[in-house]
Amino acid sequence: MGEEPYYGPDFGLLRKQDPELAQVLLDELDRQRGNLQLVASENFTSPAVLAAMGSTLTNKYAEGYPGRRYYGGCEVVDRAERLAVQRARELFGAEHANVQPHSGASANLAAYAALLQPGDTMLAMALPHGGHLTHGSKVNFSGKWFNVVSYGVRRDTELIDYDEVRDLALRHQPKLIVCGATAYPRLIDFTVFRGIADEVGAWLMADVAHTIGLMAGGAIPSAVPHADVVTLTTHKALRGPRGGAILCTEELAKKIDRAVYPFIQGGPLMHVVAAKAVAFAEAMRPEFADYARRVIVNAQALTEALAGDGMRPVSGGTDTHLALIDLRELDVSGAEAETRCAAAGITLNRNVIPYDPEPAAITSGIRVGTPCVTTQGMGPEELKEVGTLVTRAVRQPGSAREIRDRVAALLAIHQPYLSEY
Ligand SMILES: *Cc1c(COP(=O)(O)O)cnc(C)c1O
Repeated sequence: MGEEPYYGPDFGLLRKQDPELAQVLLDELDRQRGNLQLVASENFTSPAVLAAMGSTLTNKYAEGYPGRRYYGGCEVVDRAERLAVQRARELFGAEHANVQPHSGASANLAAYAALLQPGDTMLAMALPHGGHLTHGSKVNFSGKWFNVVSYGVRRDTELIDYDEVRDLALRHQPKLIVCGATAYPRLIDFTVFRGIADEVGAWLMADVAHTIGLMAGGAIPSAVPHADVVTLTTHKALRGPRGGAILCTEELAKKIDRAVYPFIQGGPLMHVVAAKAVAFAEAMRPEFADYARRVIVNAQALTEALAGDGMRPVSGGTDTHLALIDLRELDVSGAEAETRCAAAGITLNRNVIPYDPEPAAITSGIRVGTPCVTTQGMGPEELKEVGTLVTRAVRQPGSAREIRDRVAALLAIHQPYLSEY
């Protein structure tokens, strides 16, 4: 393709009609292309995914499911949802798929609604140890409506304490056990969780919002054969549109479908459902398996480069697309490191580390991930340099301008939305 970046469907028209808003889109594209994107939960979708999202399917009301809608005129959008469902089932090897959840949080709300009653007990990973807000935080519906018991990681290994999970399960007899995390760099052993769930007669839900892309590419073991319900997002490592989905066994299919619609949602976002179908097809290609593998190789190269410069990786390294870095040795908070990196053209987020002495607004750590830079075509050599740049940005705030120049040089070769697609 030429040198023009992809702006989205008929960007010229938007620019003419609403220059003020068009400028926001241009500035955001510049921001995405002009900085090193190390936020572990982000990615660059393909122009094909963007095209589906920018389509007239957004106009259509389609409450219900294909062939069973509560509006007329759904015969065309039905085809989009059927494709998305078929492709999801094939890609993930699932008996049933619901592609309507608007987000990962909505997928989790629906899964809980299908399996639990308010006041029921569930066992999930604590937020300060890497779990998600929707895994029982007090400020979230999950912590308010359910009796949540939390497990965490061991202080010495910083790995999930499976003995603690089993002890808590035996003691509290949860109706649901949730595994999956938002800031855990290591593989999760779904077979151990399955065993514990079976021992206490609990449902097992795997929230693999972060890692489903790596599973789809066959780069890490899949949760699908082990869990009763799998919730996921389509916009993280999977590289699709912003949204969620639920996979489950045939046994739970009706319960899950009713929990999504009509229990928690109304009309599905059919343009996003179509974009999910596009992304699932992209993830079935051999290139995506290669991508998923390279994401991990890159994360390991980045983590090693960081560790070599005194930035301690929590648990000693990573098996996935992300690393959690403990900054306490450098005496720099996560919040300060985030600000210093931003000044150097590097976008990442502060993150609590296990047993963090600092509150969530400050934190002692940062989280880095490689889905974006890998989509941009960077490899382990570049990631080694990125590691050095991050370390310098954190340690020497005075060098921000020099680091920005190096970042710009790297990005000049590896630009998203130019010729790569
Ligand atoms: C990102 C994430 C979610 C929520 O996804 P949203 O689309 O932001 O609602 C849920 N669970 C986990 C483990 C996540 O990492």
